[in-house]
Amino acid sequence: MGMCKPSGGISKQIGRVGDLKTTGEPNTRKDLYNEDGKLIQQRWYGSDGNAIWDRDWSHGGGEHEWPHDHSWDWTNPQHPDRPAYEDEYGNKTNSSYC
Ligand SMILES: [Zn+2]
Repeated sequence: MGMCKPSGGISKQIGRVGDLKTTGEPNTRKDLYNEDGKLIQQRWYGSDGNAIWDRDWSHGGGEHEWPHDHSWDWTNPQHPDRPAYEDEYGNKTNSSYC
């Protein structure tokens, strides 16, 4: 199992960037595809159903390495933060997630 295949399973959604909800079924992953079938975002939900991790494959807003990850910071539940991930070696994705 592990984070790549969360215990609650993986589901697909068709839509656009921004469509994934910030909360979902606990211990699941949601993969967002656009109308052309291109993977654009993956979101992991934790045991409380809050988003805990994103892997972005495509979005606007400047130059990015693809894919790259964001963690979720729920310190302020009204305005959760989504800081960009980077490890000490400069990796933009966290292999412990997938
Ligand atoms: Zn991003």
